[in-house]
This record gives sequence, structure tokens and C-alpha cells, in this order.
Amino acid sequence: MQKRWRRGGQTPRRRAPRAVPRSSIRIVHFPISVKSWTEKLPSVSAVRPAHCPACGVASRPVGLALGLHGHGLRSRLIEHSEGPGERAQLRAVLVRRYACQHCTSVVMSAPQAVLRAMRYSASTIALALGLWSHGRQSARVVRAAVSNARVLGATAACGWASLQRWSRSCQRLYPKLPAWPPPAAPRAAAERVISALSALAVWPTGAVLVDACEGSMRAH
Ligand SMILES: [Zn+2]
Repeated sequence: MQKRWRRGGQTPRRRAPRAVPRSSIRIVHFPISVKSWTEKLPSVSAVRPAHCPACGVASRPVGLALGLHGHGLRSRLIEHSEGPGERAQLRAVLVRRYACQHCTSVVMSAPQAVLRAMRYSASTIALALGLWSHGRQSARVVRAAVSNARVLGATAACGWASLQRWSRSCQRLYPKLPAWPPPAAPRAAAERVISALSALAVWPTGAVLVDACEGSMRAH
């Protein structure tokens, strides 16, 4: 529990966490699997970012007050698959938030697989794009193999529109991939993304989809 400054001998009233526009929240990822994170939520201190990603102030300066204070929990619903052969499961992930005492930014600590403002995790999107491009499977088959959704939208009848959308926005989803001019065909773009993601695997197996799912954790 953090000690709060007293002004004029009065104890300040506890304020409810203020609403912060989603676009201004920054995410710091930790190399913890979604499964481990949801089974045992890391403590406030365990996943406190080392510094504020907005202003750079240290979160735990020696001999000084904390720079990032715990700012509550938020529940994120994500569809997550660890890799090939595993259909995505809908999981409620509690992510921790921190408030910077220097610049007032709000920082969110989350497992590596959680993408900003996305329902599907990094590895799940990689798996779907990999099955669609390298696996040469139809969008409808990919959806049936990967997605957890049982209530399908209008576009589901002709496949899975998300695949084309993800292939077009892969540089935003995986910003650490090298920039390149997008190929004309979305499926060709997806194939290139999967090859690049597989090259990021720390322990490559030679299986492109397995390596791409593992590499996707390091691409954002
Ligand atoms: Zn800051």
C-alpha cells in the first residue's frame, strides 16, 4: 500500500480511477503465457514496468517514491490459441494498470500475447494467417479450425473477412517486422508475414506455423 502525502493534516479522499481514453493507454508486455497469467495473476510489483513508456521516468528510483503506482485491474476478453492444433479459447485476462506520477500517463501490463484493442491474440492471428497462406486452406476452414466464435456475422458465409483485414494491417499488428511494400494479394502478404514471424522464433523447430506463432510474441 502506497503512503499518500497529507496536506494541512487532512487525509485526502480516495479518488476513483479516472477514465482514460483507450488511445492514450500504453502497453508493456511481459514474457508470461496467457495460461500462467490467468491461473495466477502476477502481483502489482511483479509486473510493474521498469519505467514509464511515455516520459521515461523510472518506476522504482532508489531512495525515492515510486514513479508508477498501481491503478487497478481491467478485464480483457481475448480469443487465444498457443499454436497449431489448438482452437482459440475465450479467456478473460486481468491486466494491471499503473499511473505515472510524473506525466499522468496510464500504463497497462499484460501477457506477451495480448494485442492492443484486439479480440484475438498475437499467436492466434499468426496461426490463422499461417493456415490461410502457407497451409493453403480456405477462409471458411481456417475459421472453423481457429475461431472460438459460434455466432457468425454476415461475412462468415463467404469465409472469414478478418483474414484479409489482418493481412492488410500486419505492420500495425506486428510493428517490429521489417517494413515492406504490401503485395497486391492479401494472401501473398500473409505468406510473407508468416515467414518473417517464423524467423523471430527463439527456438526454431523448422515447422513454419509453430515458429510463426512463437515469433509473433516478439513482433509487437
Ligand atoms: Zn510518465
